[in-house]
Amino acid sequence: MTKIKRQIIEIDEELCNGCGECVPNCAEGSLRIVDGKARLVAENLCDGLGACLGHCPTGALRIVEREADPFDEAAVEAMLAAPGGAAGPASEPAASLPCGCPSAQVQDFGAAGACQAANRPVRLDAPRASALTHWPVQIRLVPPTAPFLKDADLLVTADCVPAAHPDFHGTLLPGKVVLLGCPKFDDAAAYVARFTEIFRTAPVRSVTVARMEVPCCGGLPAIVRKAVEAAGRPIPVREVVIGTRGEVLRAE
Ligand code: SF4
Ligand code: SF4
Repeated sequence: MTKIKRQIIEIDEELCNGCGECVPNCAEGSLRIVDGKARLVAENLCDGLGACLGHCPTGALRIVEREADPFDEAAVEAMLAAPGGAAGPASEPAASLPCGCPSAQVQDFGAAGACQAANRPVRLDAPRASALTHWPVQIRLVPPTAPFLKDADLLVTADCVPAAHPDFHGTLLPGKVVLLGCPKFDDAAAYVARFTEIFRTAPVRSVTVARMEVPCCGGLPAIVRKAVEAAGRPIPVREVVIGTRGEVLRAE
């Protein structure tokens, strides 16, 4: 392909902390987090207009003029339409699952029975009972048509939260349908597409986003808010920030 001199994004690796804020703010889906840093997927996907610039908290993004492949709108559309592409809707939920293994089979455990509710963990030294009411829990494995999403109060939690917060089953999870993922290592654009499809398909009542205090986790609420906006549904979103020692640092 003949290169032309044009404007295109440049990412300063030293400044980039991998937070992922830029990813859902690139409508072309040309940015991804790879090995903890933002990367340009391909030169022909960046239109050089810089819509992502104002969303980078560290100033790692800038527009430069250099020799590059020409911007290719058709390539953008093809990439967005592909499974896992930034705006690629999960047209057929089952087909959108990344694997066909039994761990992805949807299961609804039903509402907590009186016994389970009575045994809900209230003390760290008490016998444990899981507050989980459904399966699967990974964002990538839950189809937008899953019955447990209907009228749900969602808890969208970063992978590290249940490991850090000592009373996850006692305080954050009860009464909520949990979806779990990592905005640092997973594809943020695919998350936006998945949540947009969920919010369009299921009448979700509310979303609580639980994330870690570290900057790499800051992309998770941005992803959810972007999907709420794209779905055009007035779903309330609140945020809980957990410290690395497990304490609740902030709860909106
Ligand atoms: S928004 Fe975050 S991930 Fe994107 S370039 Fe800036 S620091 Fe890196
Ligand atoms: S803190 Fe958040 S973004 Fe960072 S690795 Fe854990 S879940 Fe992923």
